[in-house]
Amino acid sequence: MTQTPHIIEVAIPLHLEKTFHYLVPENLFGEALPGRRALVPFGRRKLTGYILGSASDSSIPNLKEILEVLDSEPLWTAKEYEFFRWVASYYLHYVGDVLKTALPTGINLQTRRGEYGEDAPLTGGKSPRREKFYTPLPSPEPDRSPGAKALEILAVIRESGDISSAILRKRFGNCTPQIKRLGELGLIRGEEREVYRDPFKNHTVQRDTPRILHTHQKNALDAITSALDHSSFVPFLLYGVTGSGKTEIYLQAISHALAMGKSALVLVPEIALTPQLTGRFQARFGGGIAILHSGLSDGERYDEWRRIRRGLANIVIGARSAVFAPLEKIGIIIVDEEHESSFKQSDGLRYNARDLALVRSKMEGAAVVLGSATPLVTSIHAAHEGRLTLLELPERVENRPMPAVELIPMKGIKETISSQLALLLTETFEKGEQAIVFLNRRGFATFLVCGECGQPLSCPNCTVTLTYHRQRGQSVCHYCDYAVPAPGTCPACGAHELKELGAGTEKLEHFLKELLSEARILRMDSDTTSGKGSHERLLAKMNDGTADILTGTQMIAKGHDFPGVTLVGVINAEASLGMPDFRAAERTYQLLSQVIGRAGRGEKPGRVLIQAIDPEQYAICAAATHDATGFYKQELEFREEAGYPPFAFLAAIGFSAISEEAVTEQSEQSARVLALIKKDLKVRIEILGPAPSPIYRLRGRFRRQILLKAKTRTDLHRLILAFREKSRSSSMVRVTIDIDPLELM
Ligand code: ADP
Ligand code: ZN
Repeated sequence: MTQTPHIIEVAIPLHLEKTFHYLVPENLFGEALPGRRALVPFGRRKLTGYILGSASDSSIPNLKEILEVLDSEPLWTAKEYEFFRWVASYYLHYVGDVLKTALPTGINLQTRRGEYGEDAPLTGGKSPRREKFYTPLPSPEPDRSPGAKALEILAVIRESGDISSAILRKRFGNCTPQIKRLGELGLIRGEEREVYRDPFKNHTVQRDTPRILHTHQKNALDAITSALDHSSFVPFLLYGVTGSGKTEIYLQAISHALAMGKSALVLVPEIALTPQLTGRFQARFGGGIAILHSGLSDGERYDEWRRIRRGLANIVIGARSAVFAPLEKIGIIIVDEEHESSFKQSDGLRYNARDLALVRSKMEGAAVVLGSATPLVTSIHAAHEGRLTLLELPERVENRPMPAVELIPMKGIKETISSQLALLLTETFEKGEQAIVFLNRRGFATFLVCGECGQPLSCPNCTVTLTYHRQRGQSVCHYCDYAVPAPGTCPACGAHELKELGAGTEKLEHFLKELLSEARILRMDSDTTSGKGSHERLLAKMNDGTADILTGTQMIAKGHDFPGVTLVGVINAEASLGMPDFRAAERTYQLLSQVIGRAGRGEKPGRVLIQAIDPEQYAICAAATHDATGFYKQELEFREEAGYPPFAFLAAIGFSAISEEAVTEQSEQSARVLALIKKDLKVRIEILGPAPSPIYRLRGRFRRQILLKAKTRTDLHRLILAFREKSRSSSMVRVTIDIDPLELM
């Protein structure tokens, strides 16, 4: 029995650095334990807080009493708490907000009048769902017939032995009166039980069995299982070209962990994009899988969370937030497509789940596998230095060749689809094979430009041009969703003639239809996939051959396995190079390699055509020639020269406000404070800026940033900690701290 503390430490999920002390009234002794939530008085409000532990310091006068304890079981284990604390201190974030991020939204109290307000309900926001189940009772046939429909229902209940009211309703429609009568006659018994909302409910999957591994796969698996056998933290980088069988290794390694009575956590970039992957896990393991991602309803997510907490799932597959899953006895953590930037959360607690997977594995004594065909430049460097153990799969399974890639120089060529690509598309279609055409830009035209005054149509809230969407009849801002009817008139001079510039996926689809009117063409981008399950429907059509050509943005580049695709075309290879970001070349290389990797995954070899203005550019060239070694070498040299990761540690301090003047003033003031602290602490840190952010105005707010570049993490933390203490907060300017930033836009 844990001894009930009389004074407890409570974290409040507001942006408060401090935690608070409260007294526990006598009637709540034994209930106010760590890991539970409590309703506490806070100023004039009542808020929900998280009980962190007992506080020994009883010298604080006038402590208030907590009002109520909201949970009957703890929400986290001591081990998880250690992890949460680590996260809070590394990202310089408030522990209350870390807890709030880590727990499912369904559990956090939400009130209609704003979060954590006065009218907070007394129990969790989402309640478990309950359902009635019926079992037959051994009783003699009744003298009175309950009626024909009731007899039919009785037969079904007797046959199944135990059946839920939902299934009965599905079969018989409304049958409440009949069930009631059967109960009255003593023929059946009803019992209410808790059920879990099932995100897999519409899926049926055929079971499969482990493949016989090829040599490289076997070596990699042996290394992982040996780490598992020793229950030791070993971080692996599984570097395998597209189609080399990485997923098969994940499956077999997990199977090994499960056999040892351990569990497995699988992090994927965006689970809604990869229903195939979840399908493969289900096919191999059947039940015991929980999935966590943003596509689930709050209720579904909360149910999945509870299933995991109660040990009913031993495999958790999820997007970045799953790194906080309440999974115990973790044997292995997998991070699939470790290079993806969606592992980083871009607001609130700006954590990176890929990095945290390493931290959590270490705390759990688990193996961790970072898998990718195009690892991060920093991961390759870590492998060179021996901080990650490199496992390589240099060949595709069954010795399938990597696709043959051709670069098409596009300088001076107006057509969106080059004649070479048009010819190959036609041939591929005529042979009954499938093709993918990739363009990393959605919409119809990139933007509209006034024919009279030459002004591009741009967003009044953000410093970006509006994208013309023909189907919607609108020009749209991709950052704030501002939209005007299009084509429309020029807001600058009122002229009626607006010219379309640049092509997006919508226009590409239009051209493809002109080229091959018979072909069944699908478009996949965020405009066509906003509905629930829409990705799956599109992907299913590619899989079962009811589509000939798939066109779309980077969504179509990721992880999909379409054995029927023999041709891949890339329109505008430099689309992602123009970003003002030191990672632009790395991203371009990764994206192109991934798209190229979609071709020739089946029995027939693949071909790829890449249209580029400058085919000599090193990222494009390296992707086209499958020259990974060359690319990483050149990119690492550039990073070292310019002093970027992995040769430096970065943090970004962002400032934003409605008032341009306030942002300028506060950011400059902060830079001065930083410079003083730097001198005091004698740390070697470069302070760059404040400079206007590349998107200077976003959703009506002006933005500036200071970039900090340090040689060591410790220096960086010391500087920012001291800065946070010294800087005065302002209600006008929002200040954010981003450790290891990925987006500098
Ligand atoms: P990756 O994850 O590296 O892209 P996958 O694991 O998806 O590769 O493998 C590509 C295809 O090859 C899949 O259809 C998979 O089922 C199959 N595969 C993987 N390993 C083997 C193997 N050892 N023998 C036969 N087929 C395999
Ligand atoms: Zn905008």
